[in-house]
Amino acid sequence: MERRNLYFFYRKEDKLIEYVEQLHQLAKEHQFTVVDDADKANIIVSIGGDGTFLQAVRKTNFRQDCLYVGISTTGALNLYCDFHADETDKMVEAMLHEKVEVRRYPIIEVKVDNNPSFYCLNECSIRSAIIKTLVLEVYIDDLHFETFRGDGMIISTPTGSTAYNKSVRGAVVDPLLPCMQVTELASLNTNQYRTLDSPFILSGTRKLTLRDVQDGNDFPTIGMDNEALSIRNVKQIDIKLSEKRIKTVKLKDNSFWEKVKRTFL
Ligand code: NAP
Ligand code: MN
Repeated sequence: MERRNLYFFYRKEDKLIEYVEQLHQLAKEHQFTVVDDADKANIIVSIGGDGTFLQAVRKTNFRQDCLYVGISTTGALNLYCDFHADETDKMVEAMLHEKVEVRRYPIIEVKVDNNPSFYCLNECSIRSAIIKTLVLEVYIDDLHFETFRGDGMIISTPTGSTAYNKSVRGAVVDPLLPCMQVTELASLNTNQYRTLDSPFILSGTRKLTLRDVQDGNDFPTIGMDNEALSIRNVKQIDIKLSEKRIKTVKLKDNSFWEKVKRTFL
């Protein structure tokens, strides 16, 4: 695999600028080319934390022909970061290795009404933006499954399962399983209103549809990972697993479950 064009994605802070200067030097020494235009890259390096990695992937449009590499500057190895900032030897070794093993992370594809679809690496979240409850008709494929009334819902990818999903008691899901998980945010459950009230996991071949019941609260906040979508009156949201995958490097002793263990246990 001939990947030689590097693009660095980071917040332009003094400390990071200095660090990236160092990476530039290192890249040159090993015959890599650093490009200023992400479109010309085939390796995109995110420098920061998981939040930065999510942005790096989003701002470069979920590239299929790129390898994404996360370098952590937060002191801990995060879920999407495989290298500590000071492990430059390890980075060089991994990038020069003939056959760098590639890890593929499933992402979800979301379509809101007739707008162009967008992708999420962590999750898509739909939340009431006002004090009133949000009402959503929930369909799995073409089955009307339930009517949700509450704060909102989260649809997460396997790698997103350790983020927002986990805070609302969703299960942690192995990214080798191409699927999406649906969790609720404070559902009302009474003799009048009923939802499953537990997280559920859909196979990668299913489609989830949420229809916003037009009852006056029709301007929910829609989140795609760490960014809000600026679509106003929402009627229908269609969510499915994308055929796309995000490729990242796979290192030794750094399986998903090793990451989960060192992050949470
Ligand atoms: P943030 O509010 O600064 O981050 C929240 C925390 O989640 C950070 O510590 C971040 O790590 C971590 N994180 C992000 N993706 C993760 C993953 N896949 N597994 C485990 N931890 C993860 O915002 P952000 O850094 O831009 O991250 C956006 C994400 O925050 C959203 O996609 C959502 O999942 C999550 N979020 C969680 C809650 C909640 O738990 N109540 C509410 C809103 C959003 P870093 O410090 O390394 O960036
Ligand atoms: Mn963050």
